[in-house]
Amino acid sequence: MELIVKDLLINFLFVLLPIFFMQMLYLASYLYRFERIKASWFVVFPVISFVLCMLFPFSFGDGFNFDLRRVPFLLGILYGGPGFAAWLLPALLAARFFIGGSGFFITLFTFTPIAVLAMFFSKYYLKMPLKQKLPSVGVLTLFSLLLTTYVAGQIYDMHMTVSMWVIFYMLNIVCILIATVLLEVIKTNFDVLQKLMKAEKLEIVSNLAASISHEVRNPLTASREFMQLSYESDIPPETKEQILISIQELDRATGIINDYLTFAKPAPDEAEAIILHETINHAVNVLIPLANMNSIELDVSVEKKEHCYILGERKKLEQAFINIIKNAIEAMSNGGKIRIKTTYEHHLAKIRICDQGKGMTQKQIDRLGEPYFTTKENGTGLGTMVSFSIIQSLGGRIQVTSKVNKGTCFVIELPTVHK
Ligand code: ADP
Ligand code: MG
Repeated sequence: MELIVKDLLINFLFVLLPIFFMQMLYLASYLYRFERIKASWFVVFPVISFVLCMLFPFSFGDGFNFDLRRVPFLLGILYGGPGFAAWLLPALLAARFFIGGSGFFITLFTFTPIAVLAMFFSKYYLKMPLKQKLPSVGVLTLFSLLLTTYVAGQIYDMHMTVSMWVIFYMLNIVCILIATVLLEVIKTNFDVLQKLMKAEKLEIVSNLAASISHEVRNPLTASREFMQLSYESDIPPETKEQILISIQELDRATGIINDYLTFAKPAPDEAEAIILHETINHAVNVLIPLANMNSIELDVSVEKKEHCYILGERKKLEQAFINIIKNAIEAMSNGGKIRIKTTYEHHLAKIRICDQGKGMTQKQIDRLGEPYFTTKENGTGLGTMVSFSIIQSLGGRIQVTSKVNKGTCFVIELPTVHK
């Protein structure tokens, strides 16, 4: 009995070990960018696995040898598809042939139909969530085991007790389920790694965008001023119209940059102790001219609290406030009042920004923060996305309530620290 367990464990090891080597090769090729390693190379791992399984089988006495070869074989085809099947089946048959003995025909007559079945099934299998993968893989294995039993019974007069079959069945199914979970975990790990690398690339791009936008904004402002001057001078009406369009387009470009500017700042992230009321006053000052132009009063009541800070980048938080208050101003085409109020609770600062503007429907509220969602003719749909992501990165959250034609309230909660 001990010997069987030992052989069995060794067989199990032959299933697991190549999975680990595969993971290592994959990781290495990813981290060190071995671009010449192709996905098709990974076919060697199931081959190594089932050859080793067949070379070191376990036996229940009576001279019948068993192994777990169908586990790497099935998984190889399920995950690799028809391309892998074309290699795995001949490899399995050749290996079985050279190992010798009478079992070759059992392998030929059972594994050929199983390979074809798994090959067609792999397309659907890969799209399944793990919850469906496990039962499917279990059923497929069970089917292949039944086929083996049937073929073995037809070709050879095998005298195996029912309990031996049951043990053999259970071992195979348990082993393939464990291997499947392991493969899935590895796959998920790599997906996460890939996403992470992508996110890093995105960060580089956004930093680049920021440094470019800094450079672009000044010439834009200068050109706009000159165009404004020409527009006001004595020129023919057609030219005037063209200049007006140019000015509008320049404003659009500046709008995009403004919504985006500090969000993607070239300087590396550095957390500083932000004094909330200063940051809000700063943001409000930036927007006072715009508010005046639209006959809107900004009613700011910010509590000054000693030794209470928010950790993060001041410039970014300011940008978040600017974007939100600017939207409030833009929502109030008939003038009115915007109330900005801060309060402190425990370790939380609460900032309420309420306007009396046109409000939003529930559908619009749900879409807030989505990139490019805008209801304005010249909107960018970047402002709220940027604000949401900044507040989130500071560990805070935003709640929005709104009534159509009544107004909107943005409630921002930010964690504070005391010094
Ligand atoms: P943009 O201002 O360029 O349209 P934003 O991302 O800043 O892009 O805003 C997206 C949309 O959310 C706006 O077009 C508007 O419909 C809606 N919105 C945001 N804030 C308010 C608000 N205070 N009142 C009404 N609608 C708002
Ligand atoms: Mg906006």
